[in-house]
Amino acid sequence: MKQDRITIYRAAAIRDAQGTSARPGAVAVKHGRVIASGPTDSMPKRLTKNAQFIDRPNDLILPALVNAHAHLDLTPIGPVPYGGEFTAWIREVIKLRPADPKAIIDAVRQGLVLSRGAGVGHLADIAGSTASVMGRRQAPREAVIPGVSYLECFGLSANQASTIARVQRALEDLPFETRIENHDRGAVLGLGPHAPYSTGLDVYKTANRLSHERIYRLTTHLAETQEELRFVRDADGPFAELLKELGKWDDGIKPTQMHPVQWLEPVLKHARWVLAHCNYVEDEHIDILQKTGTSVVYCPIASEYFGHVDHRYRDMLDAGVNVCLGTDSILCQPADEAQPMGILPQMRRLYRRDQTEPSTLLKMATTHGMLALEFSETDATLQKRAPAVFASVKIDPEDRLDPLVQALLNEHPVVPIDATRVSQVEA
Ligand SMILES: [Zn+2]
Repeated sequence: MKQDRITIYRAAAIRDAQGTSARPGAVAVKHGRVIASGPTDSMPKRLTKNAQFIDRPNDLILPALVNAHAHLDLTPIGPVPYGGEFTAWIREVIKLRPADPKAIIDAVRQGLVLSRGAGVGHLADIAGSTASVMGRRQAPREAVIPGVSYLECFGLSANQASTIARVQRALEDLPFETRIENHDRGAVLGLGPHAPYSTGLDVYKTANRLSHERIYRLTTHLAETQEELRFVRDADGPFAELLKELGKWDDGIKPTQMHPVQWLEPVLKHARWVLAHCNYVEDEHIDILQKTGTSVVYCPIASEYFGHVDHRYRDMLDAGVNVCLGTDSILCQPADEAQPMGILPQMRRLYRRDQTEPSTLLKMATTHGMLALEFSETDATLQKRAPAVFASVKIDPEDRLDPLVQALLNEHPVVPIDATRVSQVEA
């Protein structure tokens, strides 16, 4: 039977975040799923006897990586230098972002293709519009990446009621799924109230309610900048100015004397949220994140791009907070980065800058992302039944250095392997 054909990838090394580590290593695939992985010489005879072999003698094979925070609809803008002022940057993005539905759909596809090419196997992105959600849902086969499409919403104070009505209308028109059973099925829907300086607590509470009704995934940007902390605490500063300029200011916007994490705590308590950034948090806030089961997406390159330092991701991990990795938008990536939508560059940045434990980085880049997005962690491993989508990186098989460390120290791009169809097509 053609469909029963087994494909075995033999590599210099294989590694995942759930205990698979072999050098040399092999991964056996059937029907687009992993059926076995481990040391090459341990593959059982019953698998090897009729298998086709694909040899990657100079590669480390990892599971495809998870990007838990992207803005695919900004892809055509490309990297943009940062002028040093966050609100000026936002004004710039508002000007540059694709506006008509066709351009948005193309932008999302472009972002998906770049992400797949960089070995991303699951991806969560902020959809600035319903066109952005549809761009993801209708992507051609070569651009499909399962994950979450979070419909973004904005609305403060007096604008909250109309925002809520608009979101509810938009959701009625969008296809709805909560689970990815089949690797090809594409993205499920989530909600992404934008940030505390653009979106009021009633919108967040509505997102909670909707998520309870229909299991929408939830995300927001939180504690990203000092200006945001100031806005939430004092209702003034650059974000107040920006809102006035955009005609979004009204007298119902009041100081709260709170930190954004405290401000959002009543919402975090009642549903599972994924918070992008959290660049500025104290111990008491990490405590809230831990107690509420909130996940944090750290986007190290984007964070550095905006000048944020000393992110507390390791303190969060130590406190039991699930921290995963994201790219944020392509705008924040270095102009000379070959794979700007990749997660390996994020891991490399942390390894080189902070000497973070490679196995911790691999968890952040795979299983932690899946946990945040509420998918099976196994689907981002090399364990049995995981989708056969891998990220392979050149290493030196003769070098005694740990293969994952080699991949973090070298500059080789990720070569994606999609073996979900190999057994059917090539057999
Ligand atoms: Zn973002």
